[in-house]
Amino acid sequence: MEFKKNQIVEVIIEDIGINGEGIGKISGYPLFIKDAVVGDRVRAVLTKVKKTYAYAHLNEILEPSPDRTAAPCEAAKTCGGCQLQAYTYEKQLDIKQNKVRNNLIRIGGFDAEQIDGLMQPVIGMDHPWYYRNKAQYPVGTDKDGNPITGFYAGHSHRIVPCENCLLNRQENRRILKIVLDYMKRNSIPAYDEETGKGVVRHILTRCGFTSGEWMVCLVINSKDSRVLVNVKELLDALMEIPGMTSISYSSNTERTNVIMGKHYVTLAGRSTITDTIGDCAFELSPLSFFQVNPEQTVKLYGKALEYAGLTGGERVWDLYCGIGTISLFLARKAGHVYGVEIIPDAIEDAKENAKRNDLLNTTFLVGKAEEVLPKHYKETGEGADVIVVDPPRKGCEKSVLDTMLAMKPERIVYVSCDSATLARDLKILCEGDGTTRYEIKKVQPVDMFPQTVHVETVCLLSRE
Ligand code: SAH
Repeated sequence: MEFKKNQIVEVIIEDIGINGEGIGKISGYPLFIKDAVVGDRVRAVLTKVKKTYAYAHLNEILEPSPDRTAAPCEAAKTCGGCQLQAYTYEKQLDIKQNKVRNNLIRIGGFDAEQIDGLMQPVIGMDHPWYYRNKAQYPVGTDKDGNPITGFYAGHSHRIVPCENCLLNRQENRRILKIVLDYMKRNSIPAYDEETGKGVVRHILTRCGFTSGEWMVCLVINSKDSRVLVNVKELLDALMEIPGMTSISYSSNTERTNVIMGKHYVTLAGRSTITDTIGDCAFELSPLSFFQVNPEQTVKLYGKALEYAGLTGGERVWDLYCGIGTISLFLARKAGHVYGVEIIPDAIEDAKENAKRNDLLNTTFLVGKAEEVLPKHYKETGEGADVIVVDPPRKGCEKSVLDTMLAMKPERIVYVSCDSATLARDLKILCEGDGTTRYEIKKVQPVDMFPQTVHVETVCLLSRE
């Protein structure tokens, strides 16, 4: 069958793509259709026709899928941040469970029956909204010259106004209103990416869920805070918000996509807020990396700790440790924990957090895991009892996996935010190096990011 641009087709959606788009097939030819849900029968118009697939625009849902639900967000179609919000939450969890399973089988080459025997049901949330503890709103100007905040329209830097993201705490709306009103009253212009002119670039907010403390940081396009004319008016208004603890600004005059500047200056209140995960307390600055879904983080780290199976004397490594959140969790139960992280500020935070929690059985090392771990092993020849890894999406470098095999830990706990690279790396660890090899014991997906296509997985490997 021949396909042409602008052709109108009717198709049943059979599958979901990596970005949440629906996939339907006509005589084996796949069509990728944004906003279509698995199980829908739709009418769509072809927008881009390639040799082996096409993109199509959803025109009409002829028969809705039983897994469809009314997307509650006003910006569902334009924003694209919550790719799965037209699916019932139950179905979202099902999609994530299958994604992990299929990647382990397809990419990892593991046996389907084996994986089905090891996989635990994905841990979801009771209320899968308003779960984020941090938000970063870009600031721009509407056609009448008024300051606005919202999100970037897909693949662009045009700001779509929206102050009511349903993943963020509702207090944000009040904060945004105060900042925008203040900007308007004092004629403080929003930053303009095209010209590099203007003042306010982003509004960052952060909330300690357990402490109830709030932080606001304005990212400004100037090294001089006098551009924030009449700032006392802003500070007084923000300080009225219950729990407001820290207000600051960060200068970012670079013309890049990086949101935050390198430093920040406190304007009112404390310089950090406190939050706890389980029984560990953390001081967070506007620049700190911290898991964004605290309710699920406790569950995720709880699993990682359970899988680590610590009894008190173990030598443990926590690679890609960030500000040491998992490391400290582990240190309560281990002999000694070594944390490795590439960002120097995060390691400084990790050391402070260790001190604050009286966990002196920790050592934090700055550098790339693929350099620090092989070097340490080469110099000391020391093995490990347990190694925990929580790499970014691209997974672990081969040299990290090779060194882990050489260090022969009893158990490896792999925390992953991308099940495709997880599967690739598990394959290497399970094939082994001729002397040592591992076997997967448990796979636990955790829904850290409801409404989105992302899924976190904790995996326990045991030495054969
Ligand atoms: N375990 C932490 C952070 C996980 S995010 C937590 O749960 O909070 C992954 C971390 O890996 C980030 O902090 C990132 O800065 C760090 N990272 C990225 N590449 C790295 C590398 N090559 N070596 C060490 N750390 C790296």
